[in-house]
Amino acid sequence: MTRIFNFNPGPSALPLEILEEAAREMTDWRNTGMSILEISHRSAAYQEIHDETIELFRRLMNLPSDRSILFIQGGGSLQFAMVPANFHTNQRAAYMNTGVWAEKAMKEAAFYGDVYEAASSADRHHTYIPENLHLQPGTSYLHITSNNTIYGTEYRQFPHVPVPLFCDMSSDILSRPVPAGQFDLIYAGIQKNLGPAGAAVVIIKNSLLENARRDIPLILRYRTFAEHDSLYNTPPVFCIYMMNKMLRWIEQQGGACAMEEQALRKSSLIYRIIDESGGFYRGHAEKESRSRMNITFNLASPDMEKDFIHQAACRGLSGLGGHRLVGGCRVSLYNAVPEKACRALALFMKDYQEKNRGGI
Ligand SMILES: *Cc1c(COP(=O)(O)O)cnc(C)c1O
Repeated sequence: MTRIFNFNPGPSALPLEILEEAAREMTDWRNTGMSILEISHRSAAYQEIHDETIELFRRLMNLPSDRSILFIQGGGSLQFAMVPANFHTNQRAAYMNTGVWAEKAMKEAAFYGDVYEAASSADRHHTYIPENLHLQPGTSYLHITSNNTIYGTEYRQFPHVPVPLFCDMSSDILSRPVPAGQFDLIYAGIQKNLGPAGAAVVIIKNSLLENARRDIPLILRYRTFAEHDSLYNTPPVFCIYMMNKMLRWIEQQGGACAMEEQALRKSSLIYRIIDESGGFYRGHAEKESRSRMNITFNLASPDMEKDFIHQAACRGLSGLGGHRLVGGCRVSLYNAVPEKACRALALFMKDYQEKNRGGI
């Protein structure tokens, strides 16, 4: 078996042991004589793993008891629309524009009412997280993106604001402890840190549900999911099953704190190479705003970047291309990416610099 070093931005690496476990269980899961793919979502066996996953997630996120956890098909992007559909209840909604995902979220919100930027990092090509923000009267909520997957910036501290705070944590959820009680709503597509593509997990403060809009279809209401324990319709069964395994794995590693220590160690290996390269590798993000999940950088030219990505792939270091909208290179270091992959990449980067100092 050959496994490459996987730096894909999402879907992304999963631990080998959980893939192997899923493969072993694929024909007979928990003595049901069926795979998880074939079982009814109304069965006791399914309900057990559903409940277990919620419990594990609640524990690992250290959630206050007044929060509900919902599983919703449709990934992170559906949440861009569900958030304003449910909670754009006032004159305007505020967004921190820290890059492409925030912009997409704003576009969806504009279908439901006025939207404005409480702050934006567009003035410096999204290389930083703005410290100051300005809220206007009549604001329904403030929406932030904790980690900007495409530009490689990440919040260190979250704003305290007098309106409900909503956060897209799609690319750094459970990669570090967060003050969950500070947020009224958190959502994340699970395919970066928690499992396969196809589902989002939502954490919502129960009291918010009372004031949610009712002039939208039932299937778009968080209240519907909350009242039916995410079983109003068929939930993304396989995603939840894999997320269950991923959460157990995170717990075995030591939980959110251990994930943060690992993320710090892993990202430092790469940032160090960038910082000591004398400008050969040019990091995109400003140092104080650097993401530990996605490291973005450029080389001297797009041709050299192409060559770098190609040479790396030849050595089994895969998934290093930047997002199609911004180009350059990107190293994604989600929870399941092992430190040894980072060490291999760091060695390669040094070696590549050595050989190509004078240009390719
Ligand atoms: C990947 C990503 C999304 C989109 O997720 P989909 O599941 O593809 O809709 C949204 N927000 C952030 C921050 C992301 O990284």
